[in-house]
Amino acid sequence: MESYQFGDLAIAFDKEGANRYTKVTYPIRYGRFCEIKTPEYSFQFNLNGQIKYIRGLTREWPHPAEWLKRTDANDWVFYSAGLYKEMLSFIGEYYLPCLSYPSNSLWKYNPFADCDIQKALEAWSQLRVNLCSLSDNGMPSKIRGFMSQIYRQDVNTLNLKSTKLHRIIGGPVSVLPPDTRHVDYDVIPLMIADGCLYNCKFCRIKSRQSFCPRSKANVLEQIRQLQDFYGVDLKNYNAVFLGNHDALAAQPDLICRAATQAYEAFGFENACIKNPTLFLFGSVDSLLNAGSSLFDALNQIPMYTYLNIGLESVDAATLSKINKPLESGSVKDAFQMMLDINRSYLNIEVTANFLIGDALPPGHYRSLVELVRNRLNRYYSKGAIYLSPLNSSRNKRKLLRTFVEIKNLSRLPTYIYLIQRL
Ligand code: SF4
Repeated sequence: MESYQFGDLAIAFDKEGANRYTKVTYPIRYGRFCEIKTPEYSFQFNLNGQIKYIRGLTREWPHPAEWLKRTDANDWVFYSAGLYKEMLSFIGEYYLPCLSYPSNSLWKYNPFADCDIQKALEAWSQLRVNLCSLSDNGMPSKIRGFMSQIYRQDVNTLNLKSTKLHRIIGGPVSVLPPDTRHVDYDVIPLMIADGCLYNCKFCRIKSRQSFCPRSKANVLEQIRQLQDFYGVDLKNYNAVFLGNHDALAAQPDLICRAATQAYEAFGFENACIKNPTLFLFGSVDSLLNAGSSLFDALNQIPMYTYLNIGLESVDAATLSKINKPLESGSVKDAFQMMLDINRSYLNIEVTANFLIGDALPPGHYRSLVELVRNRLNRYYSKGAIYLSPLNSSRNKRKLLRTFVEIKNLSRLPTYIYLIQRL
């Protein structure tokens, strides 16, 4: 790390953060980054000079351990420390990510309406202007170059960048797997298929396309363009999301090739952050149809794989109400397969999503508890259950109580699924 002081600006260049994702109650940073501190704020930039984190340093800031993060889709997320213990139990993380766009959150807090948060975002724009007027005297040329990179990346440029990312992969990612929380949602998206098998009526994130895998050439071209897009900051990534809503329904060869090619092309072996990870979604049918050879192959790739399956409900009346074209028997079989895979494969973890909502039939909750409690003889720490609140639900407090009741009975780790996009 190199440090410089210019007036009231303290610049730390090539600062080193943690090299493993971990869950802590303070503002941890990962990989390599540059920090500029003013008396009021800490601004942190990725290796491309793009703003990534802002944290207030004065008494006006809501809490000293809270911060703002900008995603690669150019969304701001506020990490709220309000209820550490409760959050760990509700979402598996100490911090509640408060999103600047509509989602399915059960918490109403909107920090973006807070004038101190707005001031922080304005201060970043002002910092860029101030950097421009810094005297070059005594500033090494590489720092000068980096400062001008920061200066060039204003709101419009960052918006265009996010549009470029979406153009490379064929559109925005409407939902990331819940397991991506383990890498703080910092995944490189790589689409190997579009659409999904069911087009369920309740679903707000679907693309309405029928399932269609991408060609191998398309996947390779995305990888090439993504390398270029992330540039020198690529070494700060150690995770890939193979999209989109049901990548598991693609041919096993396409899945394994894409994962291996991504691992190599993105340089995960030498990434600043260890423990490379692969994320993908699957469905009941794609899981039931996947042969053991696919899991044998995934278990061998040099990444830990999280496979998240949308089970939604095991109750026939609920499946019919939400227009999910599945038999409850198939959902039970998929759940059993999830348990079997989790016990058989060291490097694969299958997790599952179920719905919670105001208007779901009572049989939904009864059958869910029967599944996540009575089918297991003891508590297992591998293979989380995520309960996803339906957007139509009005009584959020009641849903939180329902969640707690299910969690207390569940013999699998159980959390609320907070939908985040990219
Ligand atoms: S819930 Fe899954 S399968 Fe159903 S429409 Fe949404 S993305 Fe497609």
